[in-house]
Amino acid sequence: MAEKTFPVKIGLEIHGYLDTREKLFCMCLVSGDRGLVVGGSEDMPNSRICPICTGTPGSKPMAPNVEAVKKMVQIALVSRSRINYDNLIWQRKHYDWADNPKGYQTTISGAHATTNAVGGKFKGINLTELHLEEDPAQWNPETGRINYNRSGLPLVEIVTEPEFSNSEQVIEWLKGLVLSLSYIKAVRKNAGIKVDVNVSTYGERVEMKNLNSLEKIRKAIDYEIARQVENFEKGIEQKRDTLAFDEKLGKTVKMRSKEGASDYRFIPDPDLPVMKIDKKMVSEIKKEMPEMPEVKLERLLKKYEVGEKDAKILTRNLELVEFFEKLVEFGIDVKKNMSWVTIELLRVLNYNKKTLEDEDVEILPEHLGELIRAVEKKEITVLKAKQIMNDFVPKSFSLKDHEEEIGSISREAVENLCQQVIDENAHVVEEYKSGKDASLNYLIGAVMRLSERRADFKIVTEVMRGLIEGE
Ligand code: ADP
Ligand code: MG
Ligand code: ZN
Repeated sequence: MAEKTFPVKIGLEIHGYLDTREKLFCMCLVSGDRGLVVGGSEDMPNSRICPICTGTPGSKPMAPNVEAVKKMVQIALVSRSRINYDNLIWQRKHYDWADNPKGYQTTISGAHATTNAVGGKFKGINLTELHLEEDPAQWNPETGRINYNRSGLPLVEIVTEPEFSNSEQVIEWLKGLVLSLSYIKAVRKNAGIKVDVNVSTYGERVEMKNLNSLEKIRKAIDYEIARQVENFEKGIEQKRDTLAFDEKLGKTVKMRSKEGASDYRFIPDPDLPVMKIDKKMVSEIKKEMPEMPEVKLERLLKKYEVGEKDAKILTRNLELVEFFEKLVEFGIDVKKNMSWVTIELLRVLNYNKKTLEDEDVEILPEHLGELIRAVEKKEITVLKAKQIMNDFVPKSFSLKDHEEEIGSISREAVENLCQQVIDENAHVVEEYKSGKDASLNYLIGAVMRLSERRADFKIVTEVMRGLIEGE
């Protein structure tokens, strides 16, 4: 029996945390440890709060954070959206929930609102609109505790048309979006994104709220499509629903039947003036827009003749590609020395579970440049250089500070070490002589260790063979 196929439609509402210093309507810091509580740590709950972002009666919002407005404009430009310059009315979106102290969320959206930008297109998917809004607080239903640090954080919400048809396509697209947003430094690196995913198959759409990782998004979409197909076969009608994805159960669960937009009782916020976007500001931002990933990739391929695979590794991370371009400035033949960046640097970072973006990591391109130069001039061995790189995390250093301990050792010194190893391992030498080739590797390894990797591997091999065969 042929299976019925459904026209799966998926649309996203993506919330990104804007990378600003302060919150949207007050001067509380978005991150950092300079909260209200002296000596409090960055993660300390309720350390970055004030009467405004906790919705204390009588408090009024300050004018919206200009930095957040600028980031929103950048995002509109990257997504080729049409910016709305006038008549931007902040709306109160009402709902009753513990994370929402004022009883409403302030947003440039709503039933009949003019949103910040419309009609964009990103990597083949049409964008309905995008707008600024504030984040609610964080409520833990298990403990009942509320953390207001997040309350009032500036968010951009990007709404796509329902043009995706499977989870894989959604994930690839989101990766591309996050990468582009990281190139313009518009969203906070470690905050991630929160996505509401709408899925419809044979009936009305369901909305899955607050999916905060790509993995969850993939699982939730796949689960939901399968569930709906099963329901169809059972003859169950699919109504509008709001669901949450329970990761432990691996399935979607009902949150509430969806309120219509009117249930949010959107009203213009009387405490905030109608917002206008300055055209001059937008053209300034346009001029300063950095290169996007695709353009950078093209340039790496053409200008430096980097291989496609390496170019992709590099452009997948702004910090990495910027590091690479500094090496170029430093005069390194990057094409020849690519593996120092795409393999070795990533190896030591991964080993230490760090990235170049981490605040406590400080690896300078000139230090790696020095190292590559020293290897090229045969002043140090490749193995020694790799070993030195192991110590580049979290902080790199100049070779000049360690010259005595790292330079390649002379052939004569290699000969002495080889002789020493031969003397101390007579039985291994015998094994080799009687035809066990692997024994030679053991002897060479011992020399490399003794030399602290400062012996040239080729020379060691040559000398070791010569000495044994000459015996
Ligand atoms: P709401 O506030 O009810 O979530 P929005 O207009 O903000 O409504 O969001 C609409 C979202 O639903 C968009 O991401 C859109 O692509 C998606 N959507 C609309 N119609 C469908 C559909 N038939 N199937 C799947 N997704 C849909
Ligand atoms: Mg929604
Ligand atoms: Zn505040």
